[in-house]
Parts: sequence; structure tokens; C-alpha cells
Amino acid sequence: QAESHMFGIPFANTKMHDAIDWVCQNEQSQTKCRVGYFLNVNSINLAANNIELHSTLCGSDKNFVDGSGMRIAAQHSGIDLADNINGTDMLPLLCEQAVQTKQSFFLLGAKEGVAQKAGESLQKQYVGLDIRGAHHGYFNSDDDIIEQINQSGATILLVALGSPRQELWLAKNKHRLNCQCALAVGGLFDFFSG
Ligand code: UDP
Repeated sequence: QAESHMFGIPFANTKMHDAIDWVCQNEQSQTKCRVGYFLNVNSINLAANNIELHSTLCGSDKNFVDGSGMRIAAQHSGIDLADNINGTDMLPLLCEQAVQTKQSFFLLGAKEGVAQKAGESLQKQYVGLDIRGAHHGYFNSDDDIIEQINQSGATILLVALGSPRQELWLAKNKHRLNCQCALAVGGLFDFFSG
């Protein structure tokens, strides 16, 4: 997978199926949770005025490029994007692959009840989908949440706290997370809960 840069931030210029393979990758030797972000027009704009967010985006394990605005920006830098990698398109495919590869999810974020509803709705659509837990995104104690996530045994964590909170939260806490991979997914649970 080619690694390119936009606005000083590295990203993987990749196809959706390779992105999903990366999320579901299960390496015995892996010692820490891998973190992936979606670079979209909103997060890039925020990062232009927020140096902490900018360095956080630079410090992820993988960034995907999300949206047609980003495609145009990439073209201006002479980069032809292989795919539009966004959470909404990724989630259904990720659920299918998660069932096949026996991954499990914890959903963190959105208003009370929304993550749970999204989980239930996904479980109806994808038979055998293993959702280990859900929690809303308006919590005070990181410790309690991290304990719940780790206790659940979920291998994939989806964090929907909005930008920049979700990216900063993951960067701060990833060393304490036992899951294999965590993605920052913005308003995703709101779309999948109805
Ligand atoms: N959110 C949250 N905790 C917060 C702030 C936001 O769980 O402290 C949730 C919010 O309920 C929504 C999601 O984050 O479900 C994304 O919010 P928004 O659409 O503002 O962010 P974006 O997708 O533009 O990054």
C-alpha cells in the first residue's frame, strides 16, 4: 500500500478491501492496539488550527482518506486516490468480514442508547456478528470505560466522539486498550441506529 502525504499528514492510498483487511488483521506478535483515523475535510480543517490534532493525526498507525473534497485536494497535489474510504461505506463490509474472521466489536460514543441501538441493528443484518458492548460518548472517567472495553474482550473498537475528541482520546488511551484495532468513526452510530 502506497503511503502519501496531504497537508503534512501521512495516509494510506488504499482500496477499501485492503483497509478492511488491515482492521481485521490478527497478528500474534501485536502488542498494542492499532489506531486508524479517517481524514476528511472537517478533520483536516480542524487540524490546520489545532497543532495537537495535527500531530495526533500524524501519529496514527493508519489514516484513510474520506470524501470527495479530499479527492479534489489530492488531485491538486498530483495524487490519484485509489478509493474513498469512509466509515459509512466501510461498516457493512467490515461487519461481513468480522463475522468471517471472528472479530468482535465494542461501540463507544454518541448519545445514550444510540451505540446500543446501532449494535442491535447491525446484529440483525449480519448473522453471527459479535458485539461485546456499547457505551455512550458522554462519560467522565476514561479508566471505567477502558476497563469495560478490555473486559468485553472485543477485538475492534469503534470510537464515535466527533472530531477532535475521538482522535485525541484514542491517542491518549491506545496504550491501555487491549483490542487489536480502534477506528475513530465520527457520527457513524447515528446513521446506523435508525
Ligand atoms: N459525541 C460524543 N461525545 C462527545 C461529543 C460528541 O459521543 O463528547 C458524538 C455525537 O453524539 C455524535 C458523534 O459524536 O454521535 C459525532 O458528532 P459530530 O457529528 O459532531 O462529529 P463529526 O462526525 O463531524 O466528527
